[in-house]
Amino acid sequence: MKVFPKKLLVLFTILGAFAAVIPLRAQSATQPANPTHEHVFLIMTDGLRWQEVFRGADASLLTKANNDNQPIDTLVRQYVRSSPQQARAALMPFLWGHIVPEGEIYGNRDTGSDAHVTNGRNFSYPGYSETLVGYADPRINSNDPVPNPNVTVFEWLNKQPGLAGKTASFGAWSVIADAFNRQRCGFTDNAGYEPLTSIPMTPRLDLLNHLKAETPRVWADETFDAPTFYTAVEYIEAKHPRLFYLSLGETDDWAHAGNYGRYLEATNRVDMYLRRLWEMAQADPEYRDHTTLILLTDHGRGEAPVEWKSHGQKIPDSKYIFIAAMGPGIPHNGEVAGGTPVTQSQIAATVAKLVGKDWNKQTPAAGQPLPGIQVVH
Ligand SMILES: [Zn+2]
Repeated sequence: MKVFPKKLLVLFTILGAFAAVIPLRAQSATQPANPTHEHVFLIMTDGLRWQEVFRGADASLLTKANNDNQPIDTLVRQYVRSSPQQARAALMPFLWGHIVPEGEIYGNRDTGSDAHVTNGRNFSYPGYSETLVGYADPRINSNDPVPNPNVTVFEWLNKQPGLAGKTASFGAWSVIADAFNRQRCGFTDNAGYEPLTSIPMTPRLDLLNHLKAETPRVWADETFDAPTFYTAVEYIEAKHPRLFYLSLGETDDWAHAGNYGRYLEATNRVDMYLRRLWEMAQADPEYRDHTTLILLTDHGRGEAPVEWKSHGQKIPDSKYIFIAAMGPGIPHNGEVAGGTPVTQSQIAATVAKLVGKDWNKQTPAAGQPLPGIQVVH
């Protein structure tokens, strides 16, 4: 099923043409979130730089040394364009063709928008914890699989009336299970190579579980994104969660490996997965027009030509991230330029607000919801 009627597609194409000369702002009224009906899909992809999100592929990194086996001319044809606007649309067509025109994105430092992490560490577990609980916890100081001592917004929401049993999280990285505190959280918290067994078995799920167990492993603690994504899809179809979390990891792993081609391909697949999730939601009577999608990353990375491979405290640039969203409650700000900085610590309260709950009251240390979130009272 197509996401939009043809007329709207034409409209967006026209608006897209205008976007080159005027900022995308207030194209239409924001549909406020109706807390009794809303669903939130929070998607993270690990260590995807704001540079690729806003500028597209960096042609200077498409060298033989930064790739293994992939023909460079194919990558250039797919992703290199003459302007940042064209390059980013080639890399992430759903983000730039749908999410941004209908929602908003923060973090383009080229236009003065600042989105960053506040944990000071600029690596994964501190970033996931900051996102899920709404504040940086100095105790989360490694990527070790330690159960999160903090209660995530998902764990709390899962106990609220109307939301009980309506939460699930999926992570390609095994430590995502710890970020949610598997032992305590009370919902399906599937991560890494483990099979999904909490829903009735289907032939597809059985095959996915086998592939996870039997495919040779490139990374000991992280699957490729595909099995995680399709496992999550099986879960959504079976259980219709209202609060759904998905973390993908290849964008980080291929960059650490210095493989820019695979990093671009992984980014492009993340965009495809977002489109699939959105189309799936819009084809379902429960989810249609009542699903908000939020996309961000746990940390950034350094600059070309070398530091793009890495991140962390010693690479100050890696604190910069992007945050994108669309759906009920999300203002139609398009690509935000300038303005007040936003932080990763604002995501937890944003998720709660969309389903009518006040995370800041529950957890005063948490960041405030992103600006302009509109909810029916
Ligand atoms: Zn990393």
